[in-house]
Amino acid sequence: MGWWFGIKLWQRVLLGLVLGAGFGVAVSQSMDPAEAEALLLKIKVVGDVFIRLIRMIVVPLVFFTLVAGIYAMGDPKKLGTIGVKAFTLYLVTTFFANLIGLGMGTVFQPGANVDLGQAEPRVLGEAQPLGERLMGIIPANPFAALVEGDMLAVIFFSLLFGVGLLMAREEGRPAGRFFESASEGILKMTYVIMELAPFGVFALIAHTAGTKGVETFTAILNLTLAVYAGAFIHMIVVYGGLVRILANLPALSFFRGVIDAQMVAYSTSSSSATLPVTIKTVTENLGVKKSVAGSVLPLGATINMDGTSLYLGIVALFTAQAFGYTLEPHHYALIALTAALVSIGTAGVPSASLFLLSIVLEVFDVSAEHTAIVIGFIFPFDRLLDMMRTVVNVTGDAAVATTVAKWEGEIDEEEFRKRPEF
Ligand code: ASP
Repeated sequence: MGWWFGIKLWQRVLLGLVLGAGFGVAVSQSMDPAEAEALLLKIKVVGDVFIRLIRMIVVPLVFFTLVAGIYAMGDPKKLGTIGVKAFTLYLVTTFFANLIGLGMGTVFQPGANVDLGQAEPRVLGEAQPLGERLMGIIPANPFAALVEGDMLAVIFFSLLFGVGLLMAREEGRPAGRFFESASEGILKMTYVIMELAPFGVFALIAHTAGTKGVETFTAILNLTLAVYAGAFIHMIVVYGGLVRILANLPALSFFRGVIDAQMVAYSTSSSSATLPVTIKTVTENLGVKKSVAGSVLPLGATINMDGTSLYLGIVALFTAQAFGYTLEPHHYALIALTAALVSIGTAGVPSASLFLLSIVLEVFDVSAEHTAIVIGFIFPFDRLLDMMRTVVNVTGDAAVATTVAKWEGEIDEEEFRKRPEF
């Protein structure tokens, strides 16, 4: 067994990813479709166990690490500076994601010549009005918010509670230390659960690759290419540039450091399920102190979704091209703006943003019928696109946390640079 644990975790996860994809395709090609599906469903149980285990720790993790993170700042004013910097970077990176998304949608023309005739229209539920969503950030009962896993409300309460503990000074110390020790315990749980990742990832990818069929992707090949190309450009140019130029740190070390989190994001399609791993990699591999990682990352996993914003822009152009809607320059600006807003409101769970697409399409008055057709067309393939946009979402949180940590002097640079044994 020693040899297995001797291999780096991300390499084991990558192995699971590659073997899982190969296995899924092989099974679907060589067996009767119903049998293949049944086998892959059985295997998927391992993946479901893995996802449930990491989801299990998300709510306590956010609560404990956020309170501990604020407490570790030692001064409520620091929360203000870190918060403003993180928010600004979240907005700036999302702006670039929009530009890249619209650029990719224009270059790849994913909607030109697609045949939407076969698509099964899907009608969606109404999105919650913005006012209600905003009010919902303040939990009427924080314990109910914890129970329901209402992340923004949990974050709001945890932030204030952390500040309260700091203001209580001496009296707050025992509780502060309790939260620090509890968050340490939860993080250790993450390490144990992550040992299951190679198997969980194998199972999840085998199921996706085997049941969604590789050849069917050709139908949305251009859309897939546009999303993947945009995602890579955004990560390399914007996040690489952020870390290199604004944080003055080697970008390669950053990308080496976050790879564990990227793998988990790719296989689970959920930024919130990936959060424990993101916190683990950012603190452990990138040397970011808990005060920053514990506060910036939970917030980022909930509101910062550049991959989602980029994706929504591309799909909006896809729709316009497929149905022949003419877009004026102001439409582009409005698409960018609504895509950014929707990405902030998107939950970090699989396929969340596809169901909010209608909000973006309303910008250029797409009919309800056309919206339903587009969503029905993309839905069967959305997993592949979702996996990539989730990687971007998670990498963006890590890049912002790293940069803010560097600005605040809350990073162990030696740890950050010590990654060459790739
Ligand atoms: N699955 C994405 C995430 O968790 C959200 C989305 O659907 O765009 O980050």
